[in-house]
Amino acid sequence: MSKLSHPSEIAREALRQLAMRRVPPTPEHYRTLYNEIAGAPADDDAVPEKFLRALAQQLPRDSAERQRLARSVDQAIAAGNGGAARTALWQYLAALAEQAPPAWNELIAQLLRQWEARHAGWTTARKRESLERVLTANDPNTLFTRMQGLLRSWSQTPSEAPPPDADSAPPPPLGDDTAGTPQLVAPGEAGELIDTLRGLLRTTLADVVPAALGEQPQLIEEATALLHRTEGATSTAALRQCGELLRRFALRVEMAAGDAGEVHAGLLNLLRLLLQNIDELVFDDQWLHGQVEVLRQIVDKPATVRGIDDAERRLKEVIYKQSQLKHNLSEAQQALKVMLAGFVDQLANFAESTGSYHDRIGACAQQIATARDITQISGVLDEVMRETRHIQQQAANSRDELQSMRERVHAAEERIATMQRELDEASRQATHDTLTGVLNRRGLEEMFAKEAGRAGRHRSTLSVALLDIDNFKKLNDSLGHHTGDEALIHLARVVRDNLRPQDTVARYGGEEFILLYPDTDLTEAAAALTRLQRQLTKEFFLADNQKVFITFSAGISAWQPGESMDTVLKRADDAMYRAKQAGKNRVEIAAL
Ligand code: GH3
Ligand code: MG
Ligand code: MG
Repeated sequence: MSKLSHPSEIAREALRQLAMRRVPPTPEHYRTLYNEIAGAPADDDAVPEKFLRALAQQLPRDSAERQRLARSVDQAIAAGNGGAARTALWQYLAALAEQAPPAWNELIAQLLRQWEARHAGWTTARKRESLERVLTANDPNTLFTRMQGLLRSWSQTPSEAPPPDADSAPPPPLGDDTAGTPQLVAPGEAGELIDTLRGLLRTTLADVVPAALGEQPQLIEEATALLHRTEGATSTAALRQCGELLRRFALRVEMAAGDAGEVHAGLLNLLRLLLQNIDELVFDDQWLHGQVEVLRQIVDKPATVRGIDDAERRLKEVIYKQSQLKHNLSEAQQALKVMLAGFVDQLANFAESTGSYHDRIGACAQQIATARDITQISGVLDEVMRETRHIQQQAANSRDELQSMRERVHAAEERIATMQRELDEASRQATHDTLTGVLNRRGLEEMFAKEAGRAGRHRSTLSVALLDIDNFKKLNDSLGHHTGDEALIHLARVVRDNLRPQDTVARYGGEEFILLYPDTDLTEAAAALTRLQRQLTKEFFLADNQKVFITFSAGISAWQPGESMDTVLKRADDAMYRAKQAGKNRVEIAAL
């Protein structure tokens, strides 16, 4: 080592050597190194003040803590207190010792060695991939730690693949790649662990993956192939290969899941756009507006299977009704056009023929007036007769044409009436109530069948409530039928807004509604209805800026396995009747 003379150079070199030799930067080591570089004997008291000053200037101040400690050294030197300066310096170096700078040179040398070495299961490509991942760390300390972890995991892998007859040998101990000291597993325990893991893997590949990847047949096929391969893998080498295949498979599943999420969001957006467009197209139909609005509300909420099912059914109804309306409209327009064209033609013909008739008759009258003998007149009379017969014929033709046109219009009217009847039939078959937008009786029947089936399969409870508005006739009588309708719409909205996604509301008729509460016992259903009653007092109905409190009485019954909708409703109806008898605005539970 060449001798340095300037104290600041010696100090800098001493610090550099501390890092390079990876010796803990304790004051003693520092002093020894300093003396070694300066060529001075190792002597505790031989640290001159000059050296201390030079050293203080070189101290790195790259963190708040180091700045503080270096400043204490500066202050002690400035105060001429050599002892305090030394103590402060030792403190600085002690703090430095706690945060030894990462030994990059050593780490890089190790990286080169491990890169070249052969490790079972670690192909060069895999090594490169994991190294690239590690290199994404954005601060040197993290990078250093991760790189150390990676090299440790490489070095812990046996450097050669085990011999083919390794089947009978116990599996190698499992270790955590990132843990500093891997926890070794006893050989017997490792076998058990592998069996458990194999079972879990089987469930994942055979059941979970296909269920989650319904729309990715290729990935499902891959999962099945992987499953067979894993089942057949008995040697450590084969298991390692399966591990590698699994890792790649997981990566593809991860990518597919990301795609699915995007597709899902994209589809919802498309549906929103579609709804917006339908709404603009059907400006003249109130019913469609209502349906589209309900659809939009469904789409705007977080997607659930039930919500999407509901949206699909409503959308089908909207599309059907719209096609009917369009058809009717073009039929009616066509009939009107034919009729108008016919009238215009007839009018024109008639005006033309009567016009020319008048001209001819006028000319004949002129001839008669100026005729000097009867022979001249008889010729004129012949012409008059001819013209008159002609105009008679014209009139008869026009009448016939008008008659046939009237028949055609009549036929068109009949066709429109038939279509109207068909449309009514279609509405009857619709599953949603046109006034309130909730399910109608038909929709309820479908939903009940579904829920009862599900409750039967899962052996879970299904509570059914019948809700009847109190004194609704009085409301109609005092505020009018239209306001009565508005009150029904309001109630349906409040009910719908306060149900769980899995619950169902349907208009059973007039001012009666049915609620289905799956997986809910009678007490819970009664509590839900009571909450609904409270909510109705908060979200009151406004009629001409006047608060109108709507109350209801309800009966709840528990569906029994195998029971029809009519019987479970009958019991709910009886209970509802008891609620009315007991003073209304209350909930009664039906006995079995
Ligand atoms: P209660 O408290 O005993 O149930 O009395 P209520 O007046 O509610 O019961 P009632 O069965 O006597 O009357 C129900 C009324 O609901 C009669 C009917 O005019 C009215 N109604 C039924 N359907 C509709 C509808 O679609 N719109 C309006 N506005 N009223 C309806
Ligand atoms: Mg009633
Ligand atoms: Mg009523």
